[in-house]
Amino acid sequence: MKFELPQLPYALDALEPVISKTTLEYHYGKHHQAYITNLNNLIPGTKFENADLETIVKESDGGIFNNGAQVWNHTFYFLSFSPKGGGNPTGALAQAIDKSFGSFDAFKEQFSAAAATLFGAGWAWLVKNADGSLAIVKESNAGNPLRDGLTPILTCDVWEHAYYLDKQNARPKYIEDFWKIIDWSVVGARY
Ligand code: MN
Repeated sequence: MKFELPQLPYALDALEPVISKTTLEYHYGKHHQAYITNLNNLIPGTKFENADLETIVKESDGGIFNNGAQVWNHTFYFLSFSPKGGGNPTGALAQAIDKSFGSFDAFKEQFSAAAATLFGAGWAWLVKNADGSLAIVKESNAGNPLRDGLTPILTCDVWEHAYYLDKQNARPKYIEDFWKIIDWSVVGARY
């Protein structure tokens, strides 16, 4: 199937000053688009030609995996944000965070540390285990926890292209600001 860049539920300048319009023009408009274009060019004539994106993420390898997972990861990441985001989760997700990490602040601290210490390019994830408990995992490059049977709830892209235009080398500052734009109604519905 042919994949397309998803529409964002906010304007490209709506996440400023946390994420600038320029960063979104490159990160969403060029990087995300390039992964989609590459995937569409790679799958014809393979067994993934008519596969949905989740199947590609779970079952492919090499270039098809790298581009397919980057498409999935970026869509999941960009759809987690709102200019009216921030604050705290509510409902079942909030209860699960308290149960698994002790408190929302403790979870934020552990997730931020995982994102800050991930070596090189990759993604920090909050995931749900089969028993409903939560965990934080670090994945390098295009890594995606769906491959381990986990349910992704939240992700932070720590590839340099996610923050370098706005924050240069200050990855911890990008992570600190990341919490201000999380749409917990969207993220909570994934639990
Ligand atoms: Mn990215």
